[in-house]
Amino acid sequence: MSISTSVLADLLKVLPDWRPQMYFKSSLIALSHAMEDQVLAGSSAPLVIATFQQERFYRQEAHRYRRIAEKSDQVYVLAAPETEFRNHSGDYETVAFAPTDALAQEWHLVVLGDSYATCLICREKSSPGDESTLGMDSNRRFEGIWTFERQVAQEAAGILLDRILRYRPELARKLAQAKQTYLGAFVKSQGGDESVETNPDPFVGRLVTYLQVSQYKLMKAYRAIAAQEKRERLIHLMTVAIRRSLNPEEILEVAVEKVGQVLGACRCLIYRCRATDTTATIAHEFLSPNVPSLQGITWPLTENPLFQTVITTNESAWVKDTHQDLPPTTSPEFRQLLTQWGIRSWLLVPVFYQERLLGIVELQHCGPRPEEWTSEEIGLVEAIANQVGVALIQAEAYAHLEDLNQQLAALDRTRSNLVAITGHELRTPLSTIQVCLESLSTEPDMPPELRQVMLNTALSDAERMRKLIQDFLTLSKLESGRVDWNPEPLALPECIDLGLSHIRARHNPQDLPQIITHLPENLPLIEADGEWLVEVLAKLLDNACKFTPHKGKITISAHPRDKRMLQVTVADTGRGIEPKRLETVFDRFYQEEGALQRTTGGTGLGLAICRQIIQRWGGMIWAESQGKDQGSSFHFTLPIIPSVETPPLKNKKRTTR
Ligand code: ADP
Repeated sequence: MSISTSVLADLLKVLPDWRPQMYFKSSLIALSHAMEDQVLAGSSAPLVIATFQQERFYRQEAHRYRRIAEKSDQVYVLAAPETEFRNHSGDYETVAFAPTDALAQEWHLVVLGDSYATCLICREKSSPGDESTLGMDSNRRFEGIWTFERQVAQEAAGILLDRILRYRPELARKLAQAKQTYLGAFVKSQGGDESVETNPDPFVGRLVTYLQVSQYKLMKAYRAIAAQEKRERLIHLMTVAIRRSLNPEEILEVAVEKVGQVLGACRCLIYRCRATDTTATIAHEFLSPNVPSLQGITWPLTENPLFQTVITTNESAWVKDTHQDLPPTTSPEFRQLLTQWGIRSWLLVPVFYQERLLGIVELQHCGPRPEEWTSEEIGLVEAIANQVGVALIQAEAYAHLEDLNQQLAALDRTRSNLVAITGHELRTPLSTIQVCLESLSTEPDMPPELRQVMLNTALSDAERMRKLIQDFLTLSKLESGRVDWNPEPLALPECIDLGLSHIRARHNPQDLPQIITHLPENLPLIEADGEWLVEVLAKLLDNACKFTPHKGKITISAHPRDKRMLQVTVADTGRGIEPKRLETVFDRFYQEEGALQRTTGGTGLGLAICRQIIQRWGGMIWAESQGKDQGSSFHFTLPIIPSVETPPLKNKKRTTR
């Protein structure tokens, strides 16, 4: 059964002079409870009719109605059933109405006793807009009538009893009885002074309690909102700082200032550290006036009991009073340190990023009395520590990105260099070859000597191109690790001889400077790949020949550096290298004149290839020179094969041209 007419509307029809008022749900709860308490405190047996919008609201109050039923057998409870609520005659009468019934929107409580009458008849105002903005159930709004006036209560009771009869016709006799007992009383007591009969004390007492409770709840809510606001504001400040800067030091400075200020700490510290660090340096600090600074000092971590707790629990750690609450294992030296700096109440909050400790935010109170750390304060610092973690990681990522960018830029420079060199190196000999061949083919009458010159030029440029391409391929093979290494015991003099024969094959003997080999006796065998060692020697000798005038001198020497390594040197008296370029000459494509102005030929790859090879055997290669025109020495080391010695050399000193 579902009735669509509102009880409030019916009541207002019979009481046209009454205007409905607005009530919040919280006020109606307070009023209803006060009315129920009045029944429980009284001695008479009143008529009680209560309508709950839903069964769940009724269930919260069921225990009270069981007690109310002990006072009177005329108690009626109406509700829209959700689970087990149904029409039933028990301690009191329960009446189930359909959820579509108009009663599902209303809230009634009518109490009619001998000496008092109260009535509350309200209807919920549907205001979904309000509900969504306020979002609190206790703020649901109702409109209706609440009064002590007996006449109104009797009218309301009459309407409700008629309704109950329609839902539960079997109660006709009981309902008629109720009408007779309670509605007739109005006639009897009409003209009487009811306020004298009504005892408002329990009612008022109860109402005040409810008001107090509501006030307290409101206060708590305000406090929570204020704390939340403080937190949001601080986090916002941090977010702005992080957005504005990628400099972690700047961000940490903002964080330490704001946290210190907002929490009113004597000292706030932020320092970076890892879980395994034994000490940290205090880099960022906020200080209240007259508090001594800890900035720049080395802060012990291993002996710090709070830091150790943070590390083991991965959570914040704090003590209210360092005089009493530190673990007994804390060393006297550490206690002394806390006293020295006046640290009384102490909080350590870790800055984590994905379980990696990046640092600590530390708060200290230094007053004469210890201060408790509230959960809001700890939560706030933790929220900031989270932000700090993000900022530090972001800055770290940015720094990596910068590194990566620099590497990419270097790669790009190398690539451009490569393009320039290939362009120049390949195009130059190619054009020469082309000119020579064109001349040879278009001018059949060319004198044989000139013809020979043309052919020689074309051949030598073809050789230059071949060398360049070969060096590119060699270096790329070495750098990409595509070389099969098979080091074996080698006698250095033999490798030097092979290197020299390469040089002689490449250069006109008349153009070569004097080359002296200066090797000690009993030179140990070395462990290397013969072919590659000859390549290194040939390249160094080739350079020495290129950069040393015909009248100059090249010396090849070697001596054991220690038990493990043999040092080989190719020194010349040529044009020398500026001290600041001694390392750069090993860069790929480095040439003093620049790739495009070279006069000596070559690729700028020779020394880079040598370094790759020597390093592969665990050796080093470096250059020495006193500067321009002071000659250069290229040294490299090779691993010695232990205990095996070469037979003594017959010629200690040899000179070749
Ligand atoms: P390149 O094929 O140009 O010789 P390298 O890598 O062998 O390439 O050498 C790089 C640069 O180092 C040379 O262009 C030259 O400027 C400098 N260099 C190498 N060896 C010597 C040397 N013996 N004397 C002076 N400068 C040298």
